[in-house]
Amino acid sequence: MRHIGRIYKSIFKWVPGSALFAVCRRLYDAFVPAMVTLVSVRLFDSAASVLSGEKEVASLYVYAGLYLLIYLINDLLGFASSIIIQCWVYEKCTALFRMEVYEKFAKLPLIALESADTLNRKERVDNAVNDEELSSTFQRTQAIVQNAVAVVSVAVVLARYSVWLLPLSLLSVLPYLFARIVRGKEFFYVKKTQAKKTRLQSYLWGLFTTRQTAKEMRVMGFDGYITDKWRDTRDEVNEELWKVQKKDAVSLLWCDGIRIAGYCVSVAVVLWLVIRGDVTLGVFGGAITAFLSLQGSMRNFLSDLGRIAEHLAHAADYYSFLDMPEESDGAVQYPGLHGASVLENIAFKYPNSDNYALQSLNLTIRKGEKIAILGENGSGKTTLTKVLLGLYPPSGGRVLYDGTAVGDYEKDSFYSRVSAIAQDFVSYSLTLRENVAISDLSRLWEDGDVKASLAEAGFDGSVGLDEAMGREFGGREFSGGQWQKLAIARGLFKDSELIVLDEPTSTLDPLIETEILSRFVQAAQGKTALVISHRVGLCKLVDRIVVMKDGTIVETGSHAELLSSGGEYARLFNEQAKWYNGAALNLG
Ligand code: ADP
Repeated sequence: MRHIGRIYKSIFKWVPGSALFAVCRRLYDAFVPAMVTLVSVRLFDSAASVLSGEKEVASLYVYAGLYLLIYLINDLLGFASSIIIQCWVYEKCTALFRMEVYEKFAKLPLIALESADTLNRKERVDNAVNDEELSSTFQRTQAIVQNAVAVVSVAVVLARYSVWLLPLSLLSVLPYLFARIVRGKEFFYVKKTQAKKTRLQSYLWGLFTTRQTAKEMRVMGFDGYITDKWRDTRDEVNEELWKVQKKDAVSLLWCDGIRIAGYCVSVAVVLWLVIRGDVTLGVFGGAITAFLSLQGSMRNFLSDLGRIAEHLAHAADYYSFLDMPEESDGAVQYPGLHGASVLENIAFKYPNSDNYALQSLNLTIRKGEKIAILGENGSGKTTLTKVLLGLYPPSGGRVLYDGTAVGDYEKDSFYSRVSAIAQDFVSYSLTLRENVAISDLSRLWEDGDVKASLAEAGFDGSVGLDEAMGREFGGREFSGGQWQKLAIARGLFKDSELIVLDEPTSTLDPLIETEILSRFVQAAQGKTALVISHRVGLCKLVDRIVVMKDGTIVETGSHAELLSSGGEYARLFNEQAKWYNGAALNLG
């Protein structure tokens, strides 16, 4: 009931006129069968009286006119409602329900997006919204009330003529209820368990339609393997669905058979009552039409009641997603760093993972310091920066900026002062200007600043600032290195005091990497800068090197100190020295 209430509240808030119209139309529809029954009994009786010469033919016209008027109004309302309901209750409200999901998604803590459970839930909610389940719940609950009122009102009218008709019609439609309840639950269960498989299906489909993966798949020759995998998943999903639908069709066929048999028996009973002289000919005519509409309303009522479980389960999914805890915001305005940011005895575990990605980690970063974080893949470097920037809350320990926990700062004020260039940075198919200034849109039209950031990052594409980039929309395409420099320009453009560069240059050759990193370190003068790398090429350029292994810091110090101590850094250095030529290592 709570979910239904929330759906009604939203729809009445978004489209009050259409919602009210929908309710009024249902109310009229609810009384149509009873009105038709009453009028048709009178119509048939009048016809009999006119034929026997007891009444004037005029009375016949009155009832015939009334009969037609009821249907005419019904048709007009039906026509208007098909447009109004479709446009507003379905299309507009579905768009607004979808918007609620996206707004909620944007407010979820980033760490929640690492969890497969959250992504499965999101998939289920997307399906519910795309299938217009919430607007259907609005419609179907009204249909239930409409048919219940119709059944009761026709029953009251019928009972006036003969009580025999009631139990017969009831018995003939009861199996519908069971078929619908069983189907509703089973169908929903299939959809629920299918969420993971359909996500896999769309992931595999995405591999075909993404430029880079499609290229690799063809060159390496495993596109056939992925096609087969996609086909298998699709068949599995469809087969489960078809099985439920087949079962459903068979059960409904049985129910229809029972209903038709019930109708035949009841017509025979009324005929018998007429012959006995218990009811008039008019009642016979009215009753057999009334009996049909009673059966129809009862069938609709029961099948809607059975299916409501399915809709409500989708609504429950929807609202449990909307009720997920949101990222909390701190109350303290971030005044900027004056002393140091400190990672204090940090432990961190990803959701659904048994191992700690970080543990017993302590690090103090002084204002203005340039630090290189070094370590092999998987040693925890990226995770460290996410925890440092307050994106992921640590499972243990504290992250402090000048003594205040990062979570206590008001997010907007904190993030306005930090900049980060992620490993998987985004290449926007927008203009060059937007690609750079999207990190601080208040300076979008400051050509000098945009050009300066591009120059600092070493971007030399000789491209106009307003030229479109990316081939998706017919713009210019660049090499991976150029896109990476562009991402760095974007990071530098934002007027931040702390900047984090997460090895975006790792796909470049070591010489270009060293050039980009040295440019970055120069451009970050006056800022606190953290550069993550698994390469030793840049380490002479920074104030301090932090070496990570297995989620913790194993060494810190300058290049010379760490090299002479003969530990992990020296090992990495000697291993990688083979890749570099002397010129690269001596840079700086
Ligand atoms: P690095 O940046 O040094 O390559 P990461 O910080 O990316 O290392 O990863 C540290 C550890 O955390 C690795 O063991 C990695 O497998 C694990 N990890 C990273 N991301 C996730 C995730 N989303 N879910 C579970 N484990 C993860």
